[in-house]
Amino acid sequence: MSGLIERYRDRLPFAADDPVVTLGEGGTPLVHAPHLSARVDAEVWLKLDGTNPTGSFKDRGMTCAVSAAVREGAKAVICASTGNTAASAAAYAARAGLTCAVIVPEGKIAAGKLAQALMHGARVIALRGNFDQALTLVRALTDRHPIALVNSVNHFRLEGQKTAAFEIIEQLDELDALSIPVGNAGNITAYHRGFGELGIAPRLFGFQAEGAAPLVIGKKVDQPETIASAIRIGNPARWEEAMEAMTASRGMVRAVSDSEILAAYRLLAAREGVFCEPASAASVAGLLRYGAGGARRVACVLTGHGLKDPDTALNQAGGVIPCEPNLGAVEEAVLG
Ligand SMILES: *Cc1c(COP(=O)(O)O)cnc(C)c1O
Repeated sequence: MSGLIERYRDRLPFAADDPVVTLGEGGTPLVHAPHLSARVDAEVWLKLDGTNPTGSFKDRGMTCAVSAAVREGAKAVICASTGNTAASAAAYAARAGLTCAVIVPEGKIAAGKLAQALMHGARVIALRGNFDQALTLVRALTDRHPIALVNSVNHFRLEGQKTAAFEIIEQLDELDALSIPVGNAGNITAYHRGFGELGIAPRLFGFQAEGAAPLVIGKKVDQPETIASAIRIGNPARWEEAMEAMTASRGMVRAVSDSEILAAYRLLAAREGVFCEPASAASVAGLLRYGAGGARRVACVLTGHGLKDPDTALNQAGGVIPCEPNLGAVEEAVLG
């Protein structure tokens, strides 16, 4: 399977002989969600972007950001991250033979993401602060050192991420609304760009967690808090562009509570057979709480895989049933 740059080169800022760093990202499934469709009285589809090579949509942007860094002769890349950008940057840097440093909020990233960054050989720096402070610091650092910044403030990240909009339209032909979790607001901005390049404007429904909803309340949040660690961000880098995307598309930005996020997270796994991470479930929680706004066909972006965050899953799920190794005990355990 070829990667995004090869598939969409005519719509991406890469020439035929530019270096390409790819792990075969993109081309992710879009599956119909019958249970959700009945619940919200619309045709609901799930874009499973957690099936990208490192388990999140961040790979779409990272193939472009790291390929561009190699083209520019960079030897090292860096990012601030709530986890998935770190995992993705570490993997693509390993692939390209670049060194990678990631700055994450100490104790605040999901176990799977930390394991990935470490396994790929990144230098993982646990900041005694939050994501917003980490981003401010890496921006200052890259002003002083020749290290490529691969956060979504990087132009190439959004270019790569816009390809998800192309794929959804290839898969569905028509779309009335897109429902998406919003953290640093890069992804919603990228979808808006992608749809715009196709000459269409589905309504963009952005959802933030209640404790980290700066776009909803209209001001920065100093101490963002939510179970959905991937969107625990109080000062989104793409603030204005995201607001413009939602206004221009006649969309909305709304908040959902952690308990609504977790209910959607469990429902997706138990009823639709789709295991995503908590942040991703905000897109579905929002749809369940606020409705489809008259949209007939809606796609929810499930941004990251459920295996990223085993601790939350185990806390939310039922327990195992202990059993002695004999038929009677197994019978009782199985048949209840
Ligand atoms: C990064 C991320 C988001 C938020 O995307 P932004 O571009 O920061 O708005 C949502 N869900 C997951 C799983 C993520 O990794």
